Amino acid sequence: MSITSFRLKGFAVKAGAAVGAATVLAMSAGPALAQELPGPSDASPDQEFTDAAAVVNQYWADHWTDYFTGSYTSPELLPGSSIGVPGLYDSNVEQLTCGQEDLPPLNAWYCGEGDYIIADYNLLNNQDVGDSFIWLVVAHEWGHAVQARLDLPYQAVADELQADCLAGAALAGATADGSMLWDAGDDQELFDTLDALADETPWTDPDSHGDTSQRVDAYNYGVLNGPNGCLP
Ligand SMILES: [Zn+2]
Repeated sequence: MSITSFRLKGFAVKAGAAVGAATVLAMSAGPALAQELPGPSDASPDQEFTDAAAVVNQYWADHWTDYFTGSYTSPELLPGSSIGVPGLYDSNVEQLTCGQEDLPPLNAWYCGEGDYIIADYNLLNNQDVGDSFIWLVVAHEWGHAVQARLDLPYQAVADELQADCLAGAALAGATADGSMLWDAGDDQELFDTLDALADETPWTDPDSHGDTSQRVDAYNYGVLNGPNGCLP
């Protein structure tokens, strides 16, 4: 969804170290680590969602002042009702709104009015969906929360691609921090999922979010260049 006019303050960009793809790959593997660190795995969708939210939020909390002025405040995860997991709901059971707007099913949102993130469980619990997709959804919606904390005007598609870029920056940064494990095959799985779901959900609609290659390029740009690379 598009962000609202919720704005905390302006920002200034600080010089920051870029996170290279080589760093991400170098952090992969290590069976001992795999037992201890969260990351795309075979956990349940709600556990993946909860882990991803904690990791991505921690990344922005730890690194906000590396890139921006002011201090970071966490967005909320709207308490789930039928699911019982913060940030998740079931569109088959309940209709949620953001402001005056009904949330369509098979979507995930950052709602500027209320500063919260919510995702339809049915978007994440899909046979075509790899685990790493859940991490992208979470990091992307967090990207919208970051956008809302900056004073930046964007058009619709660029808005969504910037969120993908910020998602790549956050997941690569969290991997470099050692706070999550991102295996070498996960990125391919991610792109396969985007392709498989294109035209099937609002969250993967090419008209509003860009096509798969645009999204992959934006995500990779964030991985390679960090948050600074996602800013105009
Ligand atoms: Zn979005």
